[in-house]
Amino acid sequence: MNSLAPADTPAGALSVDVVPLGGLGEFGLNMMAISCGDTTIVIDAGSMFADAELPGVDLIVPDLTYLASRRGQVKALVLTHGHEDHIGAVPYVLPLVDGPLYGTPLTLAFVQPKLDEHRVSHGPGLVPVKPRDVVTVGPFRIEFIRVTHSMPDCVAVAIHTPQGVIIHTGDFKIDQTPLDGEAFDLPRFAQLGAEGVLALMCDSTNVDRPGFTGSEREVEDAFEELFTGTEGKLVVGAFSSSLYRLQILVDLAVQFDRKVAFVGRSMIANSQIAQRLGHLHIPTGVVIKDSDIPNFPAQDVLCVATGSQGEPNAALSRMAINDHRYVRLGEQDRVVLSARAIPGNEKAIGRVLNHLARRGVDVVTESEKHVHVSGHGAGEELKLMLSLVRPRYLIPVHGEYRQQARHARIAQLVTSGLPVPVRVLLAEDGDVVRFDAEGGRLFDKAPAGRVLIDSTRVGEVDEEVLRDRRHIAADGVVVPVVAINRQTGAIEGVPELMVRGFVTDDDTMGIFKEAGLMLIEVIDACGLEERTDPGLMQERIRTEVRRYLRKRTGRRPMVLPVVMEI
Ligand SMILES: [Zn+2]
Ligand SMILES: [Zn+2]
Repeated sequence: MNSLAPADTPAGALSVDVVPLGGLGEFGLNMMAISCGDTTIVIDAGSMFADAELPGVDLIVPDLTYLASRRGQVKALVLTHGHEDHIGAVPYVLPLVDGPLYGTPLTLAFVQPKLDEHRVSHGPGLVPVKPRDVVTVGPFRIEFIRVTHSMPDCVAVAIHTPQGVIIHTGDFKIDQTPLDGEAFDLPRFAQLGAEGVLALMCDSTNVDRPGFTGSEREVEDAFEELFTGTEGKLVVGAFSSSLYRLQILVDLAVQFDRKVAFVGRSMIANSQIAQRLGHLHIPTGVVIKDSDIPNFPAQDVLCVATGSQGEPNAALSRMAINDHRYVRLGEQDRVVLSARAIPGNEKAIGRVLNHLARRGVDVVTESEKHVHVSGHGAGEELKLMLSLVRPRYLIPVHGEYRQQARHARIAQLVTSGLPVPVRVLLAEDGDVVRFDAEGGRLFDKAPAGRVLIDSTRVGEVDEEVLRDRRHIAADGVVVPVVAINRQTGAIEGVPELMVRGFVTDDDTMGIFKEAGLMLIEVIDACGLEERTDPGLMQERIRTEVRRYLRKRTGRRPMVLPVVMEI
């Protein structure tokens, strides 16, 4: 047999189910379950931030029904790296796991504060792993392989199963000059490929981009120019997890004699974690506290700030409206956005940039200068991965369906000349992909979806709450206040309508006044029993006000009657 042909599956081996629970057909909330016999392992547990379409929702995590249904059998949670879309749901998932949490030291350091915040203590422990480590969990042997990405300490996993080897790349690009010298372990991928790989689950994020993504180092030149040409403060908005970016900025600050202030809660926290673990090297005396910024001349300061996505409470947004405690910006200063706009955040970012422009601040984004480089591999990198691994099956992950479909076409091209061209399984969240003696196929459906978290309350936001919030957002809210005499059931005074979300010009105010008079008539016409029953009264008022406003204004606001008995 040709030694490059895939290994045969041993007869009678247990079947293996691969169940994507998040991150397929969408960006964010990456999570993959793999089950064999009575053991399930989970790879990554990501979240996604909610946007304006989900009012009051802070966080979105994957539906955990599948894992809950296998309670007692979920024996490990394995993390590829420390980005929110891979670890944000850990506090919700970990209580369903009866085994260790495996991750590299940096990943675990980013997870720990989340567990503290949610008061999750994990009995089986958080187990640090390093590349080339192998751990055994039931029928699985899980091997960690170094990859490069926009943050340090990232790994792919090769899972040796009874059906063969399944590789999950996690997020990656092939950075051949990584800032920390930790090289992508291409040799190991090649070796596994030569031995035979059953399935490859590969990052599809940047499949639409041609060529290679480029090294993290590529932004050095642009930033050097910016350091040279900025007379006042230099403020860089970036993700606090982009530690390579932070290192490049720190090095340039040292070179150009600027002090570095990390501004924003997560920026301060992550820079400290990174220093402690040796992923961020800063000579002593270079870092200053944000509260010390006013004590230094503007030209001596570099601020590295949160808020690159226009988050309203983040440092950059506060600076933009001159509401930051320590940072005031003006005409000599320059703000650089060193991050990609995550789809959905463009408006919020635009708002921040406009405010900054009004203060006379020079704003630089990646459209003017090469101040950002993606962390995800482009077309040629994905091809290279396929050429090295030569899997029997490809399951494109991390992307919407069109990215996955494009990844499938690339795979046909790359492997058409091989003795066994790759077969692509286009799965979406909740598809159960089964591997057994008959090969790999979409076999079944598992429950999957999204759970919305409102962090001001405990637990989930259900559809009803969400419908109400959309309703209020679209049509406003009206609170009719009616006072009724408890004894006589007579209405006291003219009911008042408190209104939010309506344009309150004279016309509409007139309509609301008339609605109050209308209510007097309606209530007078009700029988005594109805008038002295607040529950019935509320329902009657709600119906009448709704009908009235729909007729007069064409809108359907939420009506919340208050009936006071006096
Ligand atoms: Zn990532
Ligand atoms: Zn990711």
